[in-house]
Amino acid sequence: MEILYVFLTGLSVGSFLNVCIYRIPRGESLVLDPSHCPGCGELIKASDLLPVISYFLLKGRCRDCGRRISFRYPAVELAAGLFGVMLFMKFGTGLEFFKYAMLVSVLIVIGMIDLETGEVYTSTIAAGAAAGAVFAAIAPGTCADSVLGALTGFAVIAAIALTGGMGWGDADICLLCGLFLGVRCTLVMLLVSFIAGGAAGIFLITSSKRRLNDSMPFGPFLAVSAIVSLFFGNSIVSLYFNMTA
Ligand SMILES: [Zn+2]
Repeated sequence: MEILYVFLTGLSVGSFLNVCIYRIPRGESLVLDPSHCPGCGELIKASDLLPVISYFLLKGRCRDCGRRISFRYPAVELAAGLFGVMLFMKFGTGLEFFKYAMLVSVLIVIGMIDLETGEVYTSTIAAGAAAGAVFAAIAPGTCADSVLGALTGFAVIAAIALTGGMGWGDADICLLCGLFLGVRCTLVMLLVSFIAGGAAGIFLITSSKRRLNDSMPFGPFLAVSAIVSLFFGNSIVSLYFNMTA
């Protein structure tokens, strides 16, 4: 029963994340303006704002003008709901649940905006880092580890950014994640993102969709890797040390 409540709350949070993903790059207000169709400008009825369900009832089109609605909407809602359930199962409903729910929410917004626009917005980093700093300050015994994680994440990507291999937005994302994850899981996150990004790069080049000097947004890889590390980082580290011991 509790799980169902967490899932439904996650779906609603996902709806708000979709609003953030659409409006932040356009400089629109996140709260003051009710949702409207980008095609015809018609306000969306409250009954059509149900997460996931409305998308399928409307067959992915606007009720008024028939314009296609991005599949990103139900996908983000569903992801937020499922991550909520996974966090609940791992952490219960204590402080860690809210801390990591905040991180996952921020990462969904940053990752999707980077995927759609190729930009990382300072406002999203600032909001996420502020939340991370608050959690680091109030969660017992995590403050030093958080600061070290943030510095490590930023320094590794900054070293690559200085040579032009990556953007400063990527370094900012790692700083933010480091605050939440601490140094150990930040290192796992970096490792996973390099492997995933490298594999995707090789795949795209060999399937000739991209050339070597095309740029590929790295933010989405960092976002996914941070979420992987949050759930499995400690297991990955102990597995590694068991294998080498
Ligand atoms: Zn419309």
